[in-house]
Amino acid sequence: MSQVSSAAAPPPLPLVTLTEDEALFRDNVRHFAEESIAPKVREMDEKGVFDSRLIEQFFQLGLMGIEVPEQYGGAGGRFFEAILAVEEISRTDPSAGVIIDVQNTLVNNALLRWGNDDQKRRYLPRMTKNLVGAYALSEAGSGSDAFALQTRAQLKGSEYVLNGRKLWITNSKEAGVFILFATIDPSAGYKGVTAFIVEKDFPGFSVGKKEDKLGIRASSTCELILEDCRVPKENVLGDQGKGYKIAIETLNEGRIGIGAQMLGLARGAWENALKYSQERKQFGKNISEFQGIQFQLAQMATEIEAVRMMVYNAARMKDAGMNFVKEAAMTKLFASQIAERVASLAVEILGGVGFTKDYPVEKFYRDAKIGKIYEGTSNMQLQTIAKLLLGDR
Ligand SMILES: Cc1cc2nc3c(=O)[nH]c(=O)nc-3n(C[C@H](O)[C@H](O)[C@H](O)COP(=O)(O)OP(=O)(O)OC[C@H]3O[C@@H](n4cnc5c(N)ncnc54)[C@H](O)[C@@H]3O)c2cc1C
Repeated sequence: MSQVSSAAAPPPLPLVTLTEDEALFRDNVRHFAEESIAPKVREMDEKGVFDSRLIEQFFQLGLMGIEVPEQYGGAGGRFFEAILAVEEISRTDPSAGVIIDVQNTLVNNALLRWGNDDQKRRYLPRMTKNLVGAYALSEAGSGSDAFALQTRAQLKGSEYVLNGRKLWITNSKEAGVFILFATIDPSAGYKGVTAFIVEKDFPGFSVGKKEDKLGIRASSTCELILEDCRVPKENVLGDQGKGYKIAIETLNEGRIGIGAQMLGLARGAWENALKYSQERKQFGKNISEFQGIQFQLAQMATEIEAVRMMVYNAARMKDAGMNFVKEAAMTKLFASQIAERVASLAVEILGGVGFTKDYPVEKFYRDAKIGKIYEGTSNMQLQTIAKLLLGDR
């Protein structure tokens, strides 16, 4: 018979319990977001440009190198803390959230996991100080089918020469370094895909057209152009032909980050709806006194709590060294559904003003849509989940 646990042993803590350090970190990030980011959100959204002074502050506060070990100037934290930061920042501005998300969960993670000592020494201290990173996988012809990419890398002497175009690359206006995927052998299919560390000043590299988007407008999304772009051989990340593994595994972590972005967004929308409902009077009462509104707020809060548990559990699984692929896909899928639903209801609870730019909920509603698209569309998350549940047959 299996042993029941001893009553004397302390029971496991609830899933959403934070350590003292984590709670302090979260509070500090929240305070910064409310004080420094919130006043700039509307203008950045309207202009479609992120304030570079805020990015400097992200570096000063250690938000751009959360998991980077202290020996490289980072905060030496856990993945969970990166997730908390993305959540808290996205509660105020999901555009700011994705800048921090890409830096920590994709770029730094790829360098930490796959970089050799020389690459870590060359890049990690800069990633914690002033170097913004981007992650360049997608192309015009290869989105969901990412490994059908066409960007070509050919070895010539001590350099690779890259030719092709990348599309939809987050952070590209601000980034100084790109983890960029190209094929060294198109006939080898996904086995030709190789990851390169490309600096913006490498000859033959340029940033192209910037997209004019529905949401997360302050986050830059651009095309990258590689015309005989020369990349030193030492800048191959991981082994040649192993780019597909690097891409898949970093995106697995990234999906928890997008879950956190959507969680923060949903919380931001819900809090705005709650506040407004307690101020707005109709029929001689605050609208929060109507059961119809109360039930909506209760349903939204319940769904947010479910998302929080999924995001935190997936992040804790990653930190515990467990396999989290299914949980990461489920988290992104569900978090993006709830974020869209909560933001939509928040607009309705605010009524007419919810539909205007004078209140933040219309922006949360626009920003929510991207959660179902990037780092793998909802269909691709469902495909991963189904494959893991049912097997490949
Ligand atoms: C704002 C923004 C930021 C982005 N940032 C980055 C970035 O930093 N780096 C990067 O590399 N990429 C980035 N992307 C690209 C993003 O990851 C892709 O847009 C996404 O993976 C979808 O690819 P696609 O746009 O080509 O759509 P498609 O793959 O053409 O999909 C179109 C539709 O077909 C469905 N579909 C496709 N294949 C299947 C299938 N097998 N079964 C069922 N349905 C399917 C999809 O679910 C979707 O509904 C970004 C995109 C946007 C919009």
